[in-house]
Amino acid sequence: MNSESGEGVELTLALAGDARIARPLSMFDDERFLSVVKVIRDADAAFFNLEALLLDARYGPFYDSGGEPPHGRYVALEPWGADELKWMGYGMCSCAMTHAWDFLYNGILSTIRVLDEKGIVHAGSGRTLSEARFPGYLQTKKGYIALISALGDVPPMTPALDPAGCNLGKPGINPLRTDVIIDSETAKKLQEVFVKVRGKVTKVEAWGHDVFEIGSTRYIIGKKKGHYCYPKARETDLDANMREVRGAAKQADWVLFAYHYHDMYNDAAAEVAHSAIDNGADVFIGHGSGARNLGGIEIYKNKPIFYNIGVFIAQLETLKFQSSGIYENMNIKDGTLGDIPDEYPTWWSCLFVPTLRGKQGPERKLVGLRLYPIDQRPTPTPRGQRGRPLMAKRKLAREIIEGIRKASAQFNTSIEFRDGIGVAKL
Ligand SMILES: [Zn+2]
Repeated sequence: MNSESGEGVELTLALAGDARIARPLSMFDDERFLSVVKVIRDADAAFFNLEALLLDARYGPFYDSGGEPPHGRYVALEPWGADELKWMGYGMCSCAMTHAWDFLYNGILSTIRVLDEKGIVHAGSGRTLSEARFPGYLQTKKGYIALISALGDVPPMTPALDPAGCNLGKPGINPLRTDVIIDSETAKKLQEVFVKVRGKVTKVEAWGHDVFEIGSTRYIIGKKKGHYCYPKARETDLDANMREVRGAAKQADWVLFAYHYHDMYNDAAAEVAHSAIDNGADVFIGHGSGARNLGGIEIYKNKPIFYNIGVFIAQLETLKFQSSGIYENMNIKDGTLGDIPDEYPTWWSCLFVPTLRGKQGPERKLVGLRLYPIDQRPTPTPRGQRGRPLMAKRKLAREIIEGIRKASAQFNTSIEFRDGIGVAKL
């Protein structure tokens, strides 16, 4: 068919951020909810960031990792969560995420099995590092889509490992770590403080004396004069991921690169985004910085970069699986889930709907971009009703689009508010 808008030539995507679904959605039939579902189903392909484990009792038991949760709570869903997301119209998701190790390796293996069984294409986690880096592939009538997914802000135990000799390797996620480039004077002060607290700083001998680690962060002392401290994507991880992007661009008609990271690594994310597009990706999908901070949109070489697509389903408070550690961390004695404080009071979100057209390569470009603002009904809505995505009404819709407009202005991308949604002026 390869006509003007046919296979491999035009594609409309619906992109959604973190989907922490704790309660079924498919029985709801109110208009504001169904209009969200319609946007997802009307797209040629829909993507979400899982940002949670899927724990199926058949693949358990699931032991608590015992660590402090990397960002507050443990985040695990029941397997029907995948059915609900599929019902909404989603066909693919990203699994390289912060909470991958919350329930040790069984949590990761169960998630992979559940997604495979439900027929949701996934990328970013695996039984080994090679598998975690390997793209997920989704067939649509508009072409074959590859998804590569990586994590930027990487808790210590989460990266997958490949087998080595008699060692079988380790399940985990695809890391695209961020190092910090720092000037020698600031590095010295930082090391002095850390030595006082912990006794010693780990020098990474193999990488030379100008590299040291504090916690899971690697610091590289720069040669330039002056004071500086900025994040940079780790070269070895970046190279390995870009190799997958180049391979995927040959295997598939469309390539998506998903990257989960947090605010402090914004500069490194820009480097990753540009590299992904330089190496053949059509869309960069950033997520992870929290929904209060919906990021900007850059159009780079005619391709869209979404720096942060936010949170799509925010039902954190009603998730059932929680670590006993959270009660201790929060100084809650003899508590239940009901005693754990509310999450952020506002969870704003948006569905990002780009349309790309043209043959694969530099000619292909973004020809349309619609932004559907989503209301998560945060506090004071009761917990049992919070976090279900609804199309935002006018006042909130305007506020959400205004936030994205401002964040995108730094990239000279203009967004306007029209008929309750955001539309990019291309
Ligand atoms: Zn995260």
